[in-house]
Amino acid sequence: MSIEGRIKKNMPLAQLTTFKIGGPAKFFIEVKTKEDLVEAVEWAKKEKENIYCLGGGSNLLIADEGLPGMVIKFANREAMNLSPRFSCGAGASLSYVISLARSAGLSGLEWGFGIPQATIGGCIRGNAGGFGMNTGEVIETVEAYNLKKSRWETLSQKDCQFGYRASIFKTDPDLIIWSATLRLKPAPAEQINEMVENNMKKRDTSQPRLPSAGSTFKNLFLDDVRHINPQLAEFIDEQGVAKGGKVGAGYLIDMHGLKGKAVGGAKISLEHANFIVNTGRATARDVMELIDFVKKEIKIRFKVELEEEIVILK
Ligand SMILES: Cc1cc2nc3c(=O)[nH]c(=O)nc-3n(C[C@H](O)[C@H](O)[C@H](O)COP(=O)(O)OP(=O)(O)OC[C@H]3O[C@@H](n4cnc5c(N)ncnc54)[C@H](O)[C@@H]3O)c2cc1C
Repeated sequence: MSIEGRIKKNMPLAQLTTFKIGGPAKFFIEVKTKEDLVEAVEWAKKEKENIYCLGGGSNLLIADEGLPGMVIKFANREAMNLSPRFSCGAGASLSYVISLARSAGLSGLEWGFGIPQATIGGCIRGNAGGFGMNTGEVIETVEAYNLKKSRWETLSQKDCQFGYRASIFKTDPDLIIWSATLRLKPAPAEQINEMVENNMKKRDTSQPRLPSAGSTFKNLFLDDVRHINPQLAEFIDEQGVAKGGKVGAGYLIDMHGLKGKAVGGAKISLEHANFIVNTGRATARDVMELIDFVKKEIKIRFKVELEEEIVILK
């Protein structure tokens, strides 16, 4: 079928995100092969339409007005066990790859067990992680399509410039992630199972069940806090709440008494202050207003600036 025949118009997107918020895509296509991706991208470029990538939609807030361009959803969901490596399509679900790794006795992704909908492509872009681990650590190579140069590129782990919730794919939006090779570490099954179960328990007991997009804000590096507000850093040291040199954004939001604060249908979770939940009818505008409110309050009270971890697409 021609590309025009496969493009959907005015495609609702809210149900393709974990937040369940957002308007439709002007154009929408699912890509299964490299040829599909190139065709879709080159079509959008020719038509002068913006290009938006959609993974599992678990880190996204999509504008109420929808997205004025072409949304590309990755249907290359395959993952192949080449022990100790995994070859994964960008659209492969993180949970699926974790379950394959678990049964193959391979460790490195246990942090992600229980995250709904996330894909390998989305995890690479944001260097997703938790419990002291992250995606970048297990990446060997990433295959990406360079929009500007209209060519395929293979990036090594070093080329990907992974940092805390950061990668070259965030700083260079011309790079679309197509696939990746992950290198995991053999480990005893009991060790992997224990890690998965412990992490799952922590998520179950500390994270909300209502729709969200995960952590709203990035955590803060304690060294940065020390420069801006030495008194606050001292207090954090005394409390012993910093983990891996970072203080949780949720800790500060909670300390300021903002749990339960709501704007329209968007509310700061009572379970975890760094989660904004959709209580039923939240709009993107509600969420953005709440985000701005929190940032202003935290700046006034603690002098530090919170930065969004969730991605706002408009
Ligand atoms: C309940 C819950 C718990 C969570 N826990 C964690 C956690 O512990 N740690 C953590 O890091 N995150 C967590 N998240 C957030 C989220 O799951 C991760 O950020 C995840 O990596 C996002 O992947 P995704 O496929 O859903 O990406 P999406 O949300 O679809 O997209 C995220 C960004 O990546 C871009 N993108 C997606 N695919 C591609 C591609 N192929 N090429 C280029 N760009 C692409 C999108 O354009 C967007 O900018 C949680 C979310 C929820 C809902």
